[in-house]
Amino acid sequence: MDIHEYQAKSILANFGVAIPRGGLAYSPEQAAYRAREIGGSKWVVKAQVHTGGRGKVGGVKVCEDEEQVFEAANQMFGKRLVTEQTGPDGKFIYRVYVEGAVNIEREIYLAFVLDRKTERIMVVASASGGMEIEEISESHPESIVRSIVEPAAGILDFQAREIAFKLGIASAQIPETVETIKGCYNAFRELDATMVEINPLVVTGEGAIIALDAKMTFDDNALFRHPDISELRDKSQEDLRESQAADRGLSYVALDGQIGCIVNGAGLAMATMDIIEVAGGQPANFLDIGGGASPERVAKAFNLVMADKNVKAILVNIFAGINRCDWVAEGIVQALENNPVDVPVIVRLAGTKVEEGRKILASSGLPIIRAGTLAEAAERSVEAWKNSTKSNPQAQTLQELAS
Ligand code: GDP
Ligand code: MN
Repeated sequence: MDIHEYQAKSILANFGVAIPRGGLAYSPEQAAYRAREIGGSKWVVKAQVHTGGRGKVGGVKVCEDEEQVFEAANQMFGKRLVTEQTGPDGKFIYRVYVEGAVNIEREIYLAFVLDRKTERIMVVASASGGMEIEEISESHPESIVRSIVEPAAGILDFQAREIAFKLGIASAQIPETVETIKGCYNAFRELDATMVEINPLVVTGEGAIIALDAKMTFDDNALFRHPDISELRDKSQEDLRESQAADRGLSYVALDGQIGCIVNGAGLAMATMDIIEVAGGQPANFLDIGGGASPERVAKAFNLVMADKNVKAILVNIFAGINRCDWVAEGIVQALENNPVDVPVIVRLAGTKVEEGRKILASSGLPIIRAGTLAEAAERSVEAWKNSTKSNPQAQTLQELAS
């Protein structure tokens, strides 16, 4: 789960990381009021959206008076910010964060990630932070500082100092930098984060070390231990389909092809997507109904996939071990009877109670295309998509599902 910059900053501040003075605003008036509250003569208005790269596309504006703050906020509210990371739809801006501007002398990159190879938290840092970090890591990979943290000991002072030295921090600022590095690490560990990124961490003209930007991502599987973090979830920043699936206990990944896929198990999902590609199509999504899915859950899965306007055919591929083919079949029939669909439905069932499942489908009187093997199912799906000219009339129901 991702959170907003202002939320990450407030968390990190509790762990001893210095941040600029700032305030959240839901309207241009409130943004101007925040600027007055903060004081000083220069402010930065920052769109709060779950993405980086805001600075390059007008999502971060430096302002010199209250009118400019009002204007900058006014420009942002109600728009979708499209950055290199968001995809073409962008992300909706409905809050901005106003901060007192900082006099930047140097920009540093500091991040904490999970290194899967060593199974440790790794510090990744660079003396050249700021907006061009991706290019720097490609053109000068040797300039990136990496340091693995031993979990039993946690991050030790000498280790944090070594990182600071490698970043070329002056001796006067070493203690503050060490506090920042340790604070980020402790926040990562205590709150079950999977990523903490500060870009840039700045050395100010006055010699202070301040986190000018902050990003945190949390492990979804550990959120039950942190109800206060779970509360920070902002569904407006998520893919609507994925968050609705999550709310129904289904795992949904939105893609951009034509064939909707309902499967059980991530491995089978991968195989299904591969074989669709081999047959000449592209998956529109994959929806994993998991083990032991009830007919009701299958029906919900169906409605969710149908809400995607790109879906021109639906492939249901179930290998029932814990699941039961008759339940899945019942779910399919239930979904199609309550909510008839206008795109071809292809079903391949295998495993537990497969005969019963096939009988339910056959006797339903519904125009379901049945396939024996996975390859056949994929071919039939692609064929059906290519022959179908109708668009999906169920597409509008996505907004209804949301309400
Ligand atoms: P991002 O583009 O989404 O990563 O947003 P950032 O918060 O990192 O801001 C982008 C850039 O705006 C930073 O790299 C800074 O160069 C600039 N910026 C942000 N805050 C300030 C500030 O207080 N003063 C000045 N001079 N520049 C700032
Ligand atoms: Mn940044």
